[in-house]
Amino acid sequence: MKYLIETFGCQMNECDSLVLAGILEQNGWQKSGNLDEADLVLINTCCVRQSAENRILGHIGSLKRLKKFKPQMIIAVCGCLTQKEGAEELFRTKYCHVDLLLGTFSQGLIAEYAEQIRQSRQKIFDTEERYDDNDLCRLYHSLPSNLSSYKAQISIIYGCNNFCSYCIVPYVRGKERSREPQLIIDEIKQLAQRGCVEIELLGQNVNSYGHDLNGWSFAKLLKEVAKIDGIERIRYMTSHPRDFTDELLEVIAAEKKICKHFHLPVQSGCDRILKLMNRGYTAEKYLLLLDDIRKASPKCAITSDLIVGFPGESERDFQATLDFLQTAKLDAAYTFLYSVRTGTPAAIMADQVEESTKKARLNRLMELQNPLSLAANQNMVGNIELILIDGPSKNNPDFFCGRTDNNKLVNFPKTNFQAGQFATMQICDAKTWNLLAKPINS
Ligand code: SF4
Repeated sequence: MKYLIETFGCQMNECDSLVLAGILEQNGWQKSGNLDEADLVLINTCCVRQSAENRILGHIGSLKRLKKFKPQMIIAVCGCLTQKEGAEELFRTKYCHVDLLLGTFSQGLIAEYAEQIRQSRQKIFDTEERYDDNDLCRLYHSLPSNLSSYKAQISIIYGCNNFCSYCIVPYVRGKERSREPQLIIDEIKQLAQRGCVEIELLGQNVNSYGHDLNGWSFAKLLKEVAKIDGIERIRYMTSHPRDFTDELLEVIAAEKKICKHFHLPVQSGCDRILKLMNRGYTAEKYLLLLDDIRKASPKCAITSDLIVGFPGESERDFQATLDFLQTAKLDAAYTFLYSVRTGTPAAIMADQVEESTKKARLNRLMELQNPLSLAANQNMVGNIELILIDGPSKNNPDFFCGRTDNNKLVNFPKTNFQAGQFATMQICDAKTWNLLAKPINS
């Protein structure tokens, strides 16, 4: 029997899809490369923004035709969309060709449910919120046996307790659940034995790791991961600025293997909006954190996410964000238009901002940030950096690309380097989104 997983959304979904693939393979399923030969199609969904949701629902709708020609094929939907209010009703009525609705708490049951459907041809919809042994985070080891790459991602914590007022995640992913540290460490050791040199630890808020475990913190986990032979670089995503402890700062600064790239979503530079967003810090507090990080790790890069057009954001509030960006001097900022998510407090706030205003503000934000990103990159010209090579550049066949420790994208003329090798290079030029380098030895 063959399966195909189609993944939408963030890196955590990518990571979940690997776990799901591992569970299926442990139960005798084989990976398929195309829809026509798959006996099970699993769509791993995202609902963080309305545009993503629309695209995914359109795709699921388009499978109806295929199901007509292949009635035995199991169509399954998992991920955040399954857990949204009204999802069961929607998939029972409008998308009745879907056989399995696998909620985010039930993903560990994928193989069991697929087998039951194969035998009985009855639909299964399981979106129950549960915190028991079927929860994906308590399973493992489920890495697909053929997964061997020089880079890998591992989920360390599921769910989120923060309830930022614009965000659907706590409603669809549930309360924070840290994975057992020994499972994480064993898994990374396995990956290192298969040739992995860079590991990225994932969670909605990795800084919360260990709050629900005895005697563990994210800082302690990082220290343990750094002891694993073969792992040369450790990254992590995403950090909540409010939960960035002094202990964490010290561990990151002291441990060479932990990359000096800090991605700290600020979301707004205006205190009034930050309060409405329920972010738990002020712009000033965030800026003080940046000072501490830069003092502890002077060669670091700091990037952030910003939401434009949050309900009630006035021109004055937006100007506060522009002023904040001037001061913060971020290496890059990823900017998003506020997207209404039904069921969140922000969705029913007064003064929703017009789409045209949001788009105009987004452009102004990028016009301000792009030269700041360029200046940050120009500061690196002349540096000697260790680059982890990713292989040929996507945009220029004569170039290869890789990443610095602080996560800058580096392009360099094609050589006989292989993906996964480290090479020492000198940075010779800078653009807004990448650096140019020349190898000085390998
Ligand atoms: S920290 Fe806030 S934005 Fe991030 S997942 Fe949790 S609720 Fe959403």
